[in-house]
Formats: sequence, structure tokens, C-alpha cells
Amino acid sequence: MAIPRQKMPAQDPVERVGNFKEVNLGLTPEQAQQEALRCIQCKDPVCIAGCPVNIKIDQFIKLIAEGDFMGAVRKIKEDNVLPSICGRVCPQEDQCEKVCVIGKKHEPVAIGNLERFVGDYERTSGQKIDPKIAPPTGKKVAVVGSGPAGLSCANDLAQYGHKVVVFEALHELGGVLMYGIPEFRLPKEIVREELDGLRRMGIEFRTDVVVGRTITIDELMEEEGFDAVFIGVGAGLPWFMGIPGENLVGVLAANEFLTRVNLMKAYDFLKSSDTPVFDCKGKNVAVFGGGNTAMDAVRTAKRLGAEHAYIVYRRSEKEMPAREEEIHNAKEEGIEFLLLTTPLEFVGDEKAWLTGAKCQKMELGEPDDSGRRRPVPVEGSEYILPIDMAIISIGNGPNPLIHQTTPDIEVSKRETIVVDVNTMQTSKENVYAGGDIVTGGATVILAMGAGRKAAAAINEKLGGTAKNFNEW
Ligand SMILES: Cc1cc2nc3c(=O)[nH]c(=O)nc-3n(C[C@H](O)[C@H](O)[C@H](O)COP(=O)(O)OP(=O)(O)OC[C@H]3O[C@@H](n4cnc5c(N)ncnc54)[C@H](O)[C@@H]3O)c2cc1C
Ligand code: SF4
Repeated sequence: MAIPRQKMPAQDPVERVGNFKEVNLGLTPEQAQQEALRCIQCKDPVCIAGCPVNIKIDQFIKLIAEGDFMGAVRKIKEDNVLPSICGRVCPQEDQCEKVCVIGKKHEPVAIGNLERFVGDYERTSGQKIDPKIAPPTGKKVAVVGSGPAGLSCANDLAQYGHKVVVFEALHELGGVLMYGIPEFRLPKEIVREELDGLRRMGIEFRTDVVVGRTITIDELMEEEGFDAVFIGVGAGLPWFMGIPGENLVGVLAANEFLTRVNLMKAYDFLKSSDTPVFDCKGKNVAVFGGGNTAMDAVRTAKRLGAEHAYIVYRRSEKEMPAREEEIHNAKEEGIEFLLLTTPLEFVGDEKAWLTGAKCQKMELGEPDDSGRRRPVPVEGSEYILPIDMAIISIGNGPNPLIHQTTPDIEVSKRETIVVDVNTMQTSKENVYAGGDIVTGGATVILAMGAGRKAAAAINEKLGGTAKNFNEW
């Protein structure tokens, strides 16, 4: 392969820990065309099956190689309406790029970077590609939750010609894209701009509506006249560790920390924001966990001025669920990794402020059910890690609110909603669900894929005509 994979320019690590601006700067048009030329246009492009929404990867890349960037936008948007977002946050190394044929001998084609380039090109070129909308069917569908699952479902339903109203509990739309993933990985302006595209399609958004409190699913159908409901409420309830000292001042969930900083802009407290956050300046902050959320939280703490920002993880780096790129970025930014370490309790002073975490060293034993080697405590290895703030990031589960107020929707033992995997229909007639509320914490593009599948099934149920999403 003569052309090497094009390296995306990025902010210098020393500079970027002092700001919340995006780390990766995007490919230039020349780089994008060079990268597109690396695609060998396989007869049987296996990368397409690697993408949960089956973007026609070979075709959009060919258009980039030919310099037809708007043509490439149109092609991607046949299958994915949020390319600027997915190109940034998809774990491509486990999806489309994992199966790229070039990747067998060389580095795979940078599909995600090209998708990001195309999405950004549309946003910055002043031209807009909006999909065709089928004639109104007279049917109304309620979408609960405005995360990736809800947004992709709403988009497809609108294209089928149904009236769509999205109900969102928070004051801003976007779900984890808005309150979870930090600005330095996904600028919020981009999320807002991609949402504007959905508004132009006639989708109505109602914020500050907690379904199950403000209105129930039954009321939506019986009183508001919705013909069907899609539930995409995610899995936003943080898990705690259940160890002593977890209620000390200075111990909080990653969700709370990230929501304060991302959604409420607490890093700009007393200027543009009235939401405070723990003052990290010169302090020691430890994040407990090894996933993407943990990386986002620890890199945020560093940007808020933490002297030491630690990742404390009970297994080794190899078992970390976070994306490799994010682990690499975190290391470049001076994050300290305390691996094979687990907290036993949090300790505090007489005023109940956190002062440290009693930790224990671990070693790896036999593989467990997940196939990862189980961490086993090393006797007598306990020590106190002095910290001022502890951020718990060991995962999230579903909020039981919907189930409590709509008991005829069947849930699993883990409180996830049970659906028919082919249609995403729940145990309740005309009620569908998808995304993290069904799978537990997963990925943006899997949630979007579930939203699309549900939209197709809802359309069929409502007697809508099949629509060819390729005809834009
Ligand atoms: C910090 C963090 C970083 C992540 N990084 C990545 C990444 O890099 N790449 C990746 O692919 N995935 C990542 N993920 C996972 C990804 O964001 C989720 O899998 C995805 O957002 C799930 O989409 P969803 O639509 O199911 O739910 P969500 O995005 O959680 O959206 C659900 C929406 O429903 C709303 N809601 C909840 N209850 C109600 C109610 N009762 N009434 C009305 N509205 C309600 C919520 O406020 C929210 O807006 C990350 C997750 C987190 C937390
Ligand atoms: S949406 Fe995600 S998985 Fe699909 S092609 Fe784009 S980067 Fe790959």
C-alpha cells in the first residue's frame, strides 16, 4: 500500500489540558481525498456489514476520492443522519474498520475520519442536504428520549410521513451526546447543528417532560392520541460500589460530574454558568473505572486543574473497555493509571470531607464469564491513596420509572426493557423500545441502529408505505 493512513491533526497535549476545545482537528480536504484513495473498492465490501446502520461505505468513499464531497454527504445520509457525531465517537476499531480488508496487512482505511470529514463539510459549506419526506400519513408517533436511539427513530418515522413528537426530560436535546461525552471529544455546537436538520424535517421536540411523571405512556396513547410510542430513555442511572464512605463529601458519580461540566458548563462557574462543580485546582482526583466514561471524567478533571488525576482500575490496561485512542489521549495529557487496584473504602475528616481511598492491589486470575481474567486481591497490599475527590464510573443501569408507571411493559431482571429483536416491539401493543434501555450501556451507533429498526416496524404496523431511503 503506497499511501499511508492519513494522520488527523490534533491539539498539542500540553496546550489542550488547559482548554475544553476539541482535541482532534479533522482531516483537510487533500488528506480526505488521499485517505479515500486507500480504499480498494472491494467487490464485496465487508466493512458495510461492520457498521450497525450499514452505511454504503465504499460508495461514499469513492465520491470523496472523486472530490464530490456533497455527493458523499448525500450517500451517507441515506443511512445515517448524524455523520459528524458518529465519525467522532463510534468505536470504529471494533466495527467498520475492524473488518476492512486493507487492515489485514496495513492500517485499515480511516472510515470514521472520512465520515467525520463529510459531516463537517456539509455543516461548514453552507449547503444543506435534507431528506425527502413522504406525504403525511395522518398517524402520530411519540418518541420518548432524545438520545441517539430516539433521534434516529424520529428521523426515519418523519421520512415515512408520520407526525413525530419527541419528549425529553432534560432542558437540552441529545442524551449522552449532550450531557455525557465532553466538549473536547464532541463539541456541543455540532450536536445542536445536526439536530437542526431534524427540526427542518418537521419533527417536534418538547423538553422538560419526564415521561412517567409529567405524563405516562398510557396517557400519551389514550389522551394525546399517539398511535405508537418508541421508548429510547437510555440507561442513565449510575451504579455505586456499596463500600464504606461513599457518601462523604467529594465522592460523586461520573454522570453527575460530567453533567455539571458538559450540560451546565460548570467550568465557567460565575461567568456564563451558575452551576458549581468541585474545585479541582491543585487537588488529587481519582476516577474509579476503566470505560469511556471514566476516561472522559478523568480528562475533564485534569482540564479543571487537578494536580494528580488518576484512573484506578481493578484489572490491567489490556482489559480496559475504553477506546484505545482515548486511553492514548489520556496518557498524553498526563493522566496517571493505577492499574490492578481496587478501593475498599473511602476515608474522610471530622467534617465528612473525603481525604483518601483505602486501596488494595490485585493480580489477574482465571478468566471470568466475560472472558476477561478475574482480578484477585493481593493479601496485605492495602494502602491509603490521598485524594480530595472520587468519581465513581463503574457503569449505569436503566431508570425504573417507565416500568413503575407502565407495569404492562415487561422488563428483565436488570430492569432493561424486553423486546422482540426483529421489531423492537415491547410486551405492550404499539409500544417499541431501543438503545441502552434495551441493551444496557452500549454505543451511539448501536442505539441508532435500534431506532431505525423500530421505525421500520412501527411504519409497517401503522400501515405506512415502505420508503426507499436511497431516494433523496
Ligand atoms: C460519558 C459517556 C461517554 C460515552 N462515549 C461513547 C463513545 O465514545 N462512543 C460511543 O459509541 N458511545 C459512547 N457512550 C455510550 C453512548 O453514549 C450510549 O450508548 C448512547 O448514548 C445510548 O443512546 P440512547 O439513545 O439509548 O440513550 P441516551 O443517550 O442515554 O438518551 C436517553 C435520553 O432519554 C432521556 N430520558 C430518560 N428518561 C426519560 C423520561 N422518563 N422521559 C423523557 N426523557 C427521558 C434522557 O434525558 C436522555 O436525553 C458513552 C456514554 C457515556 C455516559
Ligand atoms: S457509523 Fe460508525 S460504524 Fe458506521 S461507518 Fe460510520 S464510523 Fe463506521
